[in-house]
Amino acid sequence: MNKSSSKEIIILGAGLVGSLLSIYLARRGYSVHIYERRPDMRKENISAGRSINLALSDRGWRGLKGAGIEEEIRKVAIPMHGRVMHNVKGEITRQPYGEKGQAIYATSRGILNCVLMTEAEKNGVEIHFNERCTGIDLENATAIFNEKKIVAGSIFSADGAFSTARLHLQLNTDRFEYSQNYLNHGYKELIIPAGEGNTFLMEKNALHIWPRGGYMLIALPNLDGSFTCTLFFPFEGKDSFDSIKTKDDCIKLFKRIFPDALPLMPTLAEDFFNNPTGSLVTVKCFPWSFKDKLCLMGDAAHAIVPFYGQGMNCGFEDCTVFDQLLEKYGDDWDTIFSEFQNLRKPDTDAIAELAYMNFIEMRDLVGSQKFLLQKKIEARLHEKYPTKWLPLYSQVTFSDIPYSKALANGRLQEEVMKKIMKLDNIEEKWDSPEVEKMILNHIS
Ligand code: FAD
Repeated sequence: MNKSSSKEIIILGAGLVGSLLSIYLARRGYSVHIYERRPDMRKENISAGRSINLALSDRGWRGLKGAGIEEEIRKVAIPMHGRVMHNVKGEITRQPYGEKGQAIYATSRGILNCVLMTEAEKNGVEIHFNERCTGIDLENATAIFNEKKIVAGSIFSADGAFSTARLHLQLNTDRFEYSQNYLNHGYKELIIPAGEGNTFLMEKNALHIWPRGGYMLIALPNLDGSFTCTLFFPFEGKDSFDSIKTKDDCIKLFKRIFPDALPLMPTLAEDFFNNPTGSLVTVKCFPWSFKDKLCLMGDAAHAIVPFYGQGMNCGFEDCTVFDQLLEKYGDDWDTIFSEFQNLRKPDTDAIAELAYMNFIEMRDLVGSQKFLLQKKIEARLHEKYPTKWLPLYSQVTFSDIPYSKALANGRLQEEVMKKIMKLDNIEEKWDSPEVEKMILNHIS
């Protein structure tokens, strides 16, 4: 590793991506300072209202491994081997995520962030808390705070979906492309507490989904036996955040729509009104960098909706890719920034699209018999011909195939499966040599 550079680096934001990136940079010998607007979460509880747990998958693990902290996180992550779908009658269907042994992992955002910050400090990174960046002087790589200005060799903006540095680029540079799109749905976190003796009141090693067409509830397990639930729900309309005015409205809605979840949620009505309603945004922009002075990373460059569980994973993959470019180009930061954005932009645009597509899939399709049959056919094909057919979900979640390639492969597969699912009596002959031959003809 390059231990010779004296370049001073500023990272804005000690969130998940900023903290991980700092470890990679410090391990290459750079002097790294992070400026974080919030207090130190290891000393103060500031998690209220933010998504408490996240699904960590292969791209995220790769990022953590590269920084030497995979094992630390494995100890506190809960494997989820598949989806458990709950229909409106409370009946359950299971669908594995991948092959036997494959899983995505429920991980506490708070624990993950705390471990990342502590590891960053162990590597010599200095984190300055309660420091909100208010502006940037691009030409001089200077971060501006209320009372002071700090000059760096380069600045990384890992300050999340509402990035200050990105806003500066938007307002002050020519031909900066920017778009933000909000869903008509927001989200609210709710809780299923642990049973007696910290027991799990539902299947532990699964991601639970209550798909209901226009909206859905999901639940991920926590280490203490509880589940964090997230209700993805329209802001306005018949069944919507707007339509729930009283605690009674809330209970009635759950009784009607999520009847098997309701008895597990003793504080539902209080939580519903105490917890904030979050909005869901996709942000796209370009370029992500300015000369060798500034580079956006993580949600600051590419915020996506959370339905593929890939926002953080994609941000961690940014760090892996960036580190590979440091290895290749040494201290040539102009080239590194430019190549980084050119490499990543098609992939982050692709995962933005995939995440939106998965919103439709999760809320509308995962409960349908036809959809489940399609997934069964795909799983069987993969079992028999692993190199010819890798389901899209596996490409995104259990591989490092570039997201853009996964999206293209997925489109092709969907076209083939559309034809197959239209066959007469597909329910009976789904596993027949005839169907198998048709699929193989389409893809070879
Ligand atoms: P953030 O985590 O937002 O961190 C940004 C940091 O910058 C924060 O600490 C903030 O305080 C700080 N900051 C902001 N402005 C300034 C400023 N001006 N000056 C200094 N500091 C500043 N991803 C997954 O991979 N799997 C999931 O299952 C998943 N589930 C999700 C569920 C929900 C409901 C949501 C909303 C998101 C989910 N995500 C998931 C996405 C994931 O949370 C984000 O992609 C990830 O947090 C991005 O990390 P980041 O470090 O880029 O930004």
